[in-house]
Amino acid sequence: MIETKKYGNDEITINWKPSLCCRSKICRNNLPEVFNSSENPWINAGTVDTKRITDQIDKCPSKALSYTYDTKI
Ligand code: SF4
Repeated sequence: MIETKKYGNDEITINWKPSLCCRSKICRNNLPEVFNSSENPWINAGTVDTKRITDQIDKCPSKALSYTYDTKI
């Protein structure tokens, strides 16, 4: 089983698989408010609009990043 780390805000859960991450820094360069490897945790999903986050996650070249919507019933 591949290790998956989870981060979230009120709308989504971001899943990150470190072993798949090729450290391209695409996410960090394009959206440093959310993806900042100098911070701990390195993903802070509470700072910008969720759509901007999901758009950036969709551009992750290795698919190390993914997300699920947290629906409330
Ligand atoms: S874009 Fe994906 S592969 Fe590149 S550093 Fe971010 S998480 Fe890792």
